[in-house]
Amino acid sequence: MTDTGSSKGAPKDDVAELARRRGYLGQAFEIYGAAAGFYDYGPLGAGLKRRVENKWRDFYMREGFYEIETTSVVPRSVFEASGHLESFTDPTVLCTRCKNFFRVAEDLDVGKKCPDCGGMLEAAGEINLMFQTRIGVPKAGSEESTKSEAYLRPETAQGIFLNFQRLLRFNRDKLPFGIIQIGKAYRNEISPRQSLIRLREFTLAEVEVFVAPRDKNSHPEFDAVADRVLQLLPASSNTNYEEKSVGEAVRSGIMANEYLGYHIAKVDEFLEGLGIPHAKLRFRQHHRDEMAHYATDCWDAEFLSDRYGWMEIVGVADRGDYDLKAHASSSNTDMSVRTEQGKIIPHVIEPSYGMDRIFYALLESAYYKEQVGKENRQVLKLKSELAPIKAAVFPLLNRAELKEKAREVFQNLRDASIFVEYDGSGSIGRRYRRQDEIGTPYCITIDYETLEDDAVTIRERDTMKQVRVPIAEVEKVLA
Ligand code: AMP
Repeated sequence: MTDTGSSKGAPKDDVAELARRRGYLGQAFEIYGAAAGFYDYGPLGAGLKRRVENKWRDFYMREGFYEIETTSVVPRSVFEASGHLESFTDPTVLCTRCKNFFRVAEDLDVGKKCPDCGGMLEAAGEINLMFQTRIGVPKAGSEESTKSEAYLRPETAQGIFLNFQRLLRFNRDKLPFGIIQIGKAYRNEISPRQSLIRLREFTLAEVEVFVAPRDKNSHPEFDAVADRVLQLLPASSNTNYEEKSVGEAVRSGIMANEYLGYHIAKVDEFLEGLGIPHAKLRFRQHHRDEMAHYATDCWDAEFLSDRYGWMEIVGVADRGDYDLKAHASSSNTDMSVRTEQGKIIPHVIEPSYGMDRIFYALLESAYYKEQVGKENRQVLKLKSELAPIKAAVFPLLNRAELKEKAREVFQNLRDASIFVEYDGSGSIGRRYRRQDEIGTPYCITIDYETLEDDAVTIRERDTMKQVRVPIAEVEKVLA
C-alpha cells in the first residue's frame, strides 16, 4: 500500500493520524508508556461510537428484540461449561532468541523467523486468551480455591445464555425470540499490533436468536431479504467470491438455513446503512478447522481495508444447541422449551459485531482528501446522523454583536438537542477545514446581514455549497 496522495481512498497513515490529532482516538495509558491492545476514545470518537451503537440498537429493536446487560466478571464454572477454559486458545510459537510468544495464524505468515528479532521459532502450544481474576478475598488462613477463580468475559453471549430461562418466561414461553447486548469483551491477545483491529479490550454488540431447530428453515420475513445480493466466499470455493442473492444462497444450500441467511442479510443491510460501501463488503464462510468450538456454521462479514486488506468485522455463527446444552448439563438446569413437537433445546443464530473494527472501517471509508485551490482539504464524509458534531456555528468576525447573535443561534440548537459546536476564532477558511476534518456536515455563519435579515449562511461539507436560510428554519434544515 502506498500513499498516492490521490483524492479517494485512505492513504494508510492519514486516517490514523487524523483520528489522533482530532481527538477521535488515543493510546491508553500513554503517559505511562502505552500497553499494546488498549485504546481510548476521545470526545469525538466516543460521540461517533455511541451513535453507531444507538443505530445498532434501533436496528435490532425494530426486529422486536430486547436488550439486556450482564456482567463482565464471570466465575470459572461458566467457562468450564461453555468450553472456553479448554478451547478459547490460540496456537503459539516462541522465539528462541528474544523469548517472545507469537500467535501462529496471522503474525507468522511473514515467514518462519521471529518478526521482532529474526530469531528461530519453536512451537509453544495453545495459550488461553481469557484474563483471569478473583472474586473476593479468601478466608484468612485458607487456601485459595478454584471457587473464587473468575475471568473477564471474552464474549457477551454467555451472559445471555445464562439468563435463558428468565428470558424465555419474559417471552411467554414462546420461540423464536432475540436478545441483544452491547458491552466490553476482553481477550488477552498474544501479540496485538494493528491499532483497533486486535485489541485486548473491545466492544462487542451481539445478537442471540433462539429458534426451534425445525423452524430454522422458515423465517417469517425471509422474503423481505431474499433479493439482497451479497458477495460470498463459501468454504467450498477456494478461489474468488461470487455474487449471489441471499435467496439463491439458501436455496442452493451454500447457506445452511433461512435464519442464518436472514441474519447475514441483516448484517449487510446494517453495515451498508452506516455508509460502508457495499463493494467493500463480502461474506466469507469459515472452513471446518477455523470454526470456534461452539459453531456448526460461521460466516464473517469482511471489510476491504486499504490498509489491512480483507478483515473480519462481524461474525455470524450458527451455534446450534451447543451452549444451552452445555449449561443445562453442567448446572443441572432445564434449558428446554415445551413446543407442539414436545420438549426441545433451541438453536442459536448469532451475529456478533466488533464495534471497534466497524469504527475503523467507518473512518477509513469516510476519509478523503482533495486539492482545493492551494489547500489540501481532508474530509470525513460521515453520514449526518453519525457525525459527532451535527453543525458548527461561527460569527464571521470576532465582533461583539456577531458573537452575541451566534451564541444565541448556538444555544437554541443545543436546547433543541442538536449537538452543535461554537467556534469563534481563526479565519473562516481554517474553521471550515477543521470541521471538514472531524466530519461536521454543516457550518452556520452569522454575518452583518444576519443582524438585519435574521438569516444565516449554511455551508454543506461535501459539496461546499452555501445557502442562505432564515434562522427560524435552521433546525428544520439540519434535521
Ligand atoms: P468472534 O467472537 O471472534 O467471532 O468475534 C466477533 C467480532 O469481534 C469479530 O468479528 C471482530 O469484529 C471482533 N473482534 C474479535 N476479536 C477482536 C479483537 N481482539 N479486537 C477487536 N475486535 C475483535
